[in-house]
Amino acid sequence: MNIGIIGGGMMGLALAYRLSQEGHKITVFESNKQLGGLTTHYDYGPFVWDRFYHVILPSDKDLINFIKEIGLGDKLRWRPTLTGCYIDQKLYSISNTIEFLRFPPLTLIGKMRLAITLLYGSRIKNWLKLEKIPVEDWLLKLSGRNTYEKLWKPLLLAKVGENYKRVSAVFIWAYIKRLFSARDSSLHKEQLGYVEGGYKTVFDQLEKLISAAGGNICTGATVEYIAPCAEGGMWIEHNGVKEHFDKAIFTGPVNLLQHITAPDLVNVAGTSDKVEYLGVICMALITRKPLVPYYVVNLADQRIPFTGVIGMSNLVALKETAGLHITYFPKYIHFKDPLFQKSDDELLKMFFQGLRLIFPDINTDDIVVAHINRATKIQPLQVLNYSKLVPKIATEHEDFLILNNSQFVSDTLNNNTVVHHVNEFMKKSFL
Ligand SMILES: Cc1cc2nc3c(=O)[nH]c(=O)nc-3n(C[C@H](O)[C@H](O)[C@H](O)COP(=O)(O)OP(=O)(O)OC[C@H]3O[C@@H](n4cnc5c(N)ncnc54)[C@H](O)[C@@H]3O)c2cc1C
Repeated sequence: MNIGIIGGGMMGLALAYRLSQEGHKITVFESNKQLGGLTTHYDYGPFVWDRFYHVILPSDKDLINFIKEIGLGDKLRWRPTLTGCYIDQKLYSISNTIEFLRFPPLTLIGKMRLAITLLYGSRIKNWLKLEKIPVEDWLLKLSGRNTYEKLWKPLLLAKVGENYKRVSAVFIWAYIKRLFSARDSSLHKEQLGYVEGGYKTVFDQLEKLISAAGGNICTGATVEYIAPCAEGGMWIEHNGVKEHFDKAIFTGPVNLLQHITAPDLVNVAGTSDKVEYLGVICMALITRKPLVPYYVVNLADQRIPFTGVIGMSNLVALKETAGLHITYFPKYIHFKDPLFQKSDDELLKMFFQGLRLIFPDINTDDIVVAHINRATKIQPLQVLNYSKLVPKIATEHEDFLILNNSQFVSDTLNNNTVVHHVNEFMKKSFL
């Protein structure tokens, strides 16, 4: 079958690979000049690495199996890492049980309530009831004010920014679930992973395998219109060119769908415009010396514009980054936040002011370069009752299919979930 896939991110390419292995002729259309979507790479000058930080958990079984299946098992690297927390203008390590028990900002009762929250949360099966509860209320009730203010709030801010006030308890439940499955995993306990060469290695390999199976990958190709063909199959229009396919599969953001499909092609119960997206502005700083010994530091400090410090070089071997250190500083915001209108220079100035507050001794000679990367649509915001809000998209045509991350109603967005959804999609044999 001749199949057109819209979107060359992890979802589109994993799907393209799986379908091409089943003997279909695949064409992938990707708007950007390079593949990868949010998982794409960036040329930092001295080296190339992921545009945004990505880590593989030992429990990411679907993803790890996929990486092995495409022949990159020997490129997987695992390393023990540390976790930090910046509270009341101090950096703490909370990387093991002893450090956690000693962690001064939490009272003993606070620590016990945290343990209960984690245990209780990890055992919940019926997540739908959590959708009605604001995450803040749920955490305050279970963990208490002290633990909420010192630990949960910084984490929420680190993950969704100020939007946490509107997010449901499902969000943190999915996070706890992922955290617990990582701890249960016997393989590579307490270690985090990456692929040598970053996700570029994964996308280069996928492109090679899809092409070898007779597929086409078109970058710089924005799909503008998808319409049914009277004789069967679908038309996909991009850059003014119209191509015919037996089937078309859309993997882009849901709120784009209605704007590029023929009337009546999709039946969206509710409106996809109601889906609000989470965006991110992320500074990547390249330095000669490490800034922190941690892979991740969560922080919630009103004076500081970013909500996390990701010491990528504490995970990734220095030979990957030309002997230099890469640290990411994310700020998660609503996709319509006016901050997106600011220039890179304005944002760099803002982020550097925050940087100097945490690292007052930072030597400018140690800074090689700083970049601002941004993405307006990372994932739908899991607001209250999201599963009812998410448009029930029924494609009205058997030759048009949709698979995208707005359908993750009870999962966090990560590449393991993406591969899992692709695997599930392949099991339903509608092709
Ligand atoms: C800051 C950050 C940190 C992250 N950290 C991790 C992590 O540690 N571990 C992890 O596993 N995951 C992480 N993720 C999540 C990971 O990046 C996503 O799981 C993944 O990128 C989702 O892939 P996707 O294909 O669903 O979506 P996307 O990557 O958004 O891909 C969709 C693609 O469709 C294309 N497209 C849209 N419209 C059109 C059109 N009309 N025509 C043609 N092409 C179109 C877009 O250009 C895009 O390339 C992180 C993400 C971010 C932003």
